[in-house]
Amino acid sequence: MSNATLRVALLIVSTTAARDPSTDASQAALRSVLKEEGDGRWELVDTKIVPDVVPQIQQQVMLWTDVVAETFNLILTTGGTGFAVADNTPEAVSALIHKPAPGLVHGMLTASLNVTPFAMMSRPVAGIRNRSIIITLPGSPKGARENLQAVLKTLPHACLQAAGMDSRSLHVGGIKKLEAEAGIKSSGGHSHSHDHHHAHGNNHPPSHNHGHGHGHSHGHGHLVRHTAPSTNPLSNDPSLGPSRRNRESPYPMLSVDDALSKIKDHTPLPEAVTLKVDRSLPGHVLAENVQARENVPAFRASIVDGYAVVVPSDGNLKGVFPVVSVSHASPGEVQPLKEGEIARITTGAPLPPGATSVIMVEDTILKTMTDDGKEEKEVEILADKVKEGENIREVGSDIKTGTVILSKGEQISAVGGEIGLLAAVGVAEVKAYRKPVIGVLSTGDEIVQHDRPGDLRLGEVRDTNRITLMTAAKECGYEVVDLGITADKPGTLEETLRDALRRVDFIITTGGVSMGELDLLKPTIERSLGGTIHFGRVAMKPGKPTTFATVPVKDNSGERVTKVIFSLPGNPASAIVTFHLFVLPSLHQMSGISPAGLTRVPVRLVHDFVLDKTRPEYHRAIVSVGKDGNLLAASTGGQRSSKVGSLRGANCLLCMPSGKEPLKKGSKVDALLMGGIRSEL
Ligand code: AMP
Ligand code: MG
Repeated sequence: MSNATLRVALLIVSTTAARDPSTDASQAALRSVLKEEGDGRWELVDTKIVPDVVPQIQQQVMLWTDVVAETFNLILTTGGTGFAVADNTPEAVSALIHKPAPGLVHGMLTASLNVTPFAMMSRPVAGIRNRSIIITLPGSPKGARENLQAVLKTLPHACLQAAGMDSRSLHVGGIKKLEAEAGIKSSGGHSHSHDHHHAHGNNHPPSHNHGHGHGHSHGHGHLVRHTAPSTNPLSNDPSLGPSRRNRESPYPMLSVDDALSKIKDHTPLPEAVTLKVDRSLPGHVLAENVQARENVPAFRASIVDGYAVVVPSDGNLKGVFPVVSVSHASPGEVQPLKEGEIARITTGAPLPPGATSVIMVEDTILKTMTDDGKEEKEVEILADKVKEGENIREVGSDIKTGTVILSKGEQISAVGGEIGLLAAVGVAEVKAYRKPVIGVLSTGDEIVQHDRPGDLRLGEVRDTNRITLMTAAKECGYEVVDLGITADKPGTLEETLRDALRRVDFIITTGGVSMGELDLLKPTIERSLGGTIHFGRVAMKPGKPTTFATVPVKDNSGERVTKVIFSLPGNPASAIVTFHLFVLPSLHQMSGISPAGLTRVPVRLVHDFVLDKTRPEYHRAIVSVGKDGNLLAASTGGQRSSKVGSLRGANCLLCMPSGKEPLKKGSKVDALLMGGIRSEL
């Protein structure tokens, strides 16, 4: 048996430890088990801490399992395996596992149950992803230690096999030899009947040399994960031709809600960047609280046109006063004012030092002018009972320096309020979430540029989706890159997507996700790009083959990042409906916008609606406000998924249930608002 060192990564899953790493005790416990009971086989190469957040757990595990150059043999997680609401580790990990290893789970539970019946409260999972074994250990140092001890001796063998080591050489000598090597004994005399299945024929070296022989990058050096074909992708292998393709989609049919929760779990979290406060800021969400840098107003200012005065102790200002100076709303020195003098002042102008109040011009009479008749010399004031501070805005009376003016998570709207607030208090830069850059690609041999002159040849179709989705994405505030049209050829599609993954954060494709032999999106994402397809079928109308995938990629600075691919159906109505329903929530999540997705409002139907018998339908419709203030909805007409015209005028998607009978006029359903609501038609 090979004595190579096996690489271990440890993920501490704990919201508390993520905040304060000093609270974690499991790491030390596990480290000592690996060291003292691991026969020198294990090297703990990396340790990370994440909170109990499914996407964060998954992202970290995938960085360890999917990046070929640095594959780990064993990924241990500790924490989050119990029954508490926040305990999510088994769910996060099991979604990543390609091959479950229930034997390891039994091993751990059996050992722990011998110690305490409370072991029943642990929900461990174990299995293989790519070439790594993943095991979830409980969070308590004692539990984690016992569970690891229970399986540790068998793990070197399992890890080497999972890493692709030639199993024939691993098994020379049989089970007895394996047990002897591992320093363990089978409890019964039945080990000869032990049923071992080993994949023969893959002659990869063990992974300690960091190479699986398939870590190529086609000369681009950016995509870092290449799932071996043996990790059982569900998609067709296009090289096998039409006769061998799946005749029914192997992807489980998800409900819309389940699809949305997959999107939530697998869309990358937003990334905070520093942005200038300018016209491109609206639409962004703040990544931290913003404090006023300055007082507003920054100086004592008059709120009326009139005369600055020094109020005498009795408040009586009736009388004639000399006008000694003028303060306009413009920067510069202002002369001090004494009791018995007045200064003409305009709205917003700084008060002369010493002035304590402002008398409105309406409460005065001009008494005398200068000899040239151009200036006021004396003015009579008609006010008594004047108080100090009248008609004055004090320094910081609107906003004081240091006040939180906008909070983390708030979106800067384009209607103007927030941007003006930032401008007023002298904030020129803010930390906000970066918005993903979106690439839009049409696929299909039949698709031609929408504006190609001349008539169509038989079979040609004008590209409707690309321009539709690009404009929709732009309207939603995103920068869009036009990825053009690509043919239904595996190599071409792969090249186009690889190139796109270098240029954009988020790819939307249309076409090629149905069941035809030229439907290449799923196989290309899964088999060529090493992406993970989180769903490939949704129970809905239109949009059944909608596909959501993520691909781990190294960005230009060598950082590992996750990019998103949505492959939408080719039919134009399906493409735009699924954009609003699925793509938008993902874009929102990546931009920090919460809640993500379209706003949902209850509406009343103004006519009967025929329902689909089996699938819920997203019906393009027009919502308006009725005379009684209720929201009313009318269909835009024919809803077939190929119907280009069904979105004309639509400002919402009605969430229609499936059903045999029509839904009657007057029924209430939910509408997802895509655009503004109109007055009644
Ligand atoms: P597919 O999803 O590739 O099976 O395509 C389903 C239908 O949508 C076919 O009739 C395609 O011709 C049509 N289609 C695909 N892409 C586009 C597009 N970009 N613009 C208009 N129609 C399309
Ligand atoms: Mg097609």
